[in-house]
Amino acid sequence: MSLARALERARELGAHPRQERSLVRAWLTRDDLARIAAAPRAPFAKALVAALPELEAELAKIARVASEHAGSADTTGGQTGGAPGGKLEGESTSAPGRDAGGATRLLVELADGATIETVLLPKNALCISSQVGCAVGCRFCKTGEGGLVRNLEVDELLAQVVLARARKPIDRIVFMGMGEPAHNLANVLGALEWLGTEGRFAHKRMVFSTVGERKVFERLLAAPVRPALALSLHAADDARRAELLPRAPRIPVRELVELADAYARAITWPVLYQWTLLEGVNDSDADLAAAVELLRGRHGLLNVVGWNALDGFPFRRAPLERAVHWVRTLKRAGVFATLRDSAGQDVEGGCGQLRSRAVADRSRPLVDRSR
Ligand code: SF4
Repeated sequence: MSLARALERARELGAHPRQERSLVRAWLTRDDLARIAAAPRAPFAKALVAALPELEAELAKIARVASEHAGSADTTGGQTGGAPGGKLEGESTSAPGRDAGGATRLLVELADGATIETVLLPKNALCISSQVGCAVGCRFCKTGEGGLVRNLEVDELLAQVVLARARKPIDRIVFMGMGEPAHNLANVLGALEWLGTEGRFAHKRMVFSTVGERKVFERLLAAPVRPALALSLHAADDARRAELLPRAPRIPVRELVELADAYARAITWPVLYQWTLLEGVNDSDADLAAAVELLRGRHGLLNVVGWNALDGFPFRRAPLERAVHWVRTLKRAGVFATLRDSAGQDVEGGCGQLRSRAVADRSRPLVDRSR
């Protein structure tokens, strides 16, 4: 049963719109349904109260955790700051102040048997997937290698939060898992609206991460819940970026940054620009100078991301000293910057690896198309 069908059933049993929202809130926040149903000012109809266990059981079928893989540490969660001249958050694996909570990757199985990855991050943050697979095909990404299988529905996006909250409190979400949120825009916006209204998430504690598409900036600006924005750059040069992100929309990098900057100023929240540092590919001093020139004066910060080494990929992770040099130079030049290890590097590798191993291990198809 989908969330939409559960709400329809609740309506049939006498729920009015506010009670439907109460049900969604209880699901998203793992509140006690029976307690909410007995609210003295708006008690639920008896038939609906009787059906609550059935509804709860059906919602639980939207997604389940197939396996859980704990790691030691990561510095992704809560990264929204970093000032020129300030201390580098996550500067090294032994940096003081590093969150010792670690990342835990969940392999989540959906009702049709498809699998996605969801990552519990330090500082009560969660990284969720927006698609099964991804069509952008970034050269350095395991998920991109496999292509797109399908979009996630709104309730499949929300269910990742529910599963995570069963394990620990979550108050920040980044849409940085498998998939490109812009390619599943209607459903991601639908999920953001639920999360920002009934899910108890502050709007800027949700990060929409994209390679950029013109319609995204317009739609986010018009949305009732306007999240923080992360924009994956990886290069300041259009041709280099097209090589690294072969199926991202062909929008000049400068135009993308201008669109992102306008969004950031409209919502008064900085953009998180992402740059996965690949040795000998996009980590030269010329690349660094281009990044400075591109981002100086923008309302945002550059997140320099360490790449997860992947077998069979023609890249090397840039050395830590190089990444530190980047962040220090950016800061000295007046560009806010942080350094981040990719989540779960010590768990099963980066985005998509856990799923690809699970898929390889299976004898049955990833998606049962007969459903
Ligand atoms: S890095 Fe993100 S956008 Fe690129 S292929 Fe992987 S999942 Fe898709």
